[in-house]
Amino acid sequence: MLGCLLGPRTLVLLPRLCSFPCSSLLSLSKDTFIRRGLGVLKMERSLEMNGYEYKRCSFLVDWDDEDASLVRKFQLLYYLEDDTIELYELRKNKGARPRLFLKRTRVAAVNLGAMHVGSTFNVMGRNMRISDFADEFTRNKLGKLLQWFNKSPDDFLPLYLKRTFAMLKPDAMDQSDEILNLIKDHGFKIAKMKTVSLDRGDILRLYKEHEGKPFLGFLVNYLTTSPCLAMELVADNAVSRWMEFVGTTDPERARVDAPGSLRALYGRDKGYNAVHGSNNEEDSKRELDIFFPSTKVGNFSPPRTSATLEGTLCIVKPHALKEGHLGSILQEIRKGGFRVMAMQMFYVERVNAEEFYEVYKGVMPEYAAMVDELTQGACVALEVRYDADVGDSHSRFRELAGPRDPDIARHIEPSTLRAKFGKTRVENAVHCTDLPEDVVSEVEYFFLMLQ
Ligand code: ADP
Ligand code: MG
Repeated sequence: MLGCLLGPRTLVLLPRLCSFPCSSLLSLSKDTFIRRGLGVLKMERSLEMNGYEYKRCSFLVDWDDEDASLVRKFQLLYYLEDDTIELYELRKNKGARPRLFLKRTRVAAVNLGAMHVGSTFNVMGRNMRISDFADEFTRNKLGKLLQWFNKSPDDFLPLYLKRTFAMLKPDAMDQSDEILNLIKDHGFKIAKMKTVSLDRGDILRLYKEHEGKPFLGFLVNYLTTSPCLAMELVADNAVSRWMEFVGTTDPERARVDAPGSLRALYGRDKGYNAVHGSNNEEDSKRELDIFFPSTKVGNFSPPRTSATLEGTLCIVKPHALKEGHLGSILQEIRKGGFRVMAMQMFYVERVNAEEFYEVYKGVMPEYAAMVDELTQGACVALEVRYDADVGDSHSRFRELAGPRDPDIARHIEPSTLRAKFGKTRVENAVHCTDLPEDVVSEVEYFFLMLQ
């Protein structure tokens, strides 16, 4: 009876995977059993591996906020005994402990059948996607079980097919504003970004496939001279689409074969070719892990920020980012005579937004709304310096930002950032430091504390 329900192959595997009596399988049809292969685990309620008894499975879950080009990461615990889940938000700050986001509860859309890598489900109005198994137990037991049950390869499509690693090399940084606009126009969303000052070790890790090649010394010189902009880009088939947009290694050839490609437009020669792209999915995952590690990988730290902590702070607010103004705001900043020393995308947590805006508490009627705005999606923090006179950075940048209220700005200072990109007193495109004495602490808040 069991044999005809499950087939010989499954029968061979089951005893190894499951220690519960096989008779409890008889109530399942073959279809249900195979489609929901994981039901096996459910019936057992807990599993034993390496001497430990597991009552729950653990997954990494991404919540994609497509509009804001940001991804929040969670650990999802799935309790086998009662179909309940618990969510912990994994925080980017080094050493920050995961924060309880959803207490153990039952969620209609969640059942064991949905617990596989690539699966998407809705939790309290948010689309969550399982990106990976979060512990060896879940990976070995659930992962293998699913493979054995021949699930469609689509169910295992790793998340990184939709993301890729991209980097602007030093020679492209002066045109980063223009390039960011092109990236946006080509349908890529930026999920992470950070300007980095690479050292030799970073470069050897990034280009490990070129170990021993004659041009490696050149690469180390080239990429350590000044900062690069590292990014995680999101799009369907991100890896191949980005490779195509980057163009071939030699810009001279790219100008013939693909004149619209980034290397054709911004590269000089085979060495100085402006942009980097990952060759394939495996490389893109490895490279993203170097620059934006979700957990510490071995003894390596990610490349360090290029911030000098000598300029003044500008925050491109979440609404302005969502509306696609980042490239244009950077263009205005450059035209205004400023140099962007560092740029980094942040997802600011409420407690940090409250702390950062603390000086406005009780003073500014919009305080609560400002905190809400800053936490509603990704923002980009910039360290900017006035090129002609570093000492004037703060006052000159306040002039460029314009009056706090964009309506007033449009009347009296129409060429300012807030006049051009602002909407309301809260959604006024950019934050800039008010008082000269706060410049250092504000730059340090983003480029030191929140690193
Ligand atoms: P790609 O970046 O197109 O994947 P490779 O992986 O072959 O190209 O090389 C990595 C980088 O090393 C290139 O982008 C380029 O900056 C540099 N490079 C490659 N080949 C040469 C060369 N022959 N001379 C100088 N630099 C080179
Ligand atoms: Mg390569």
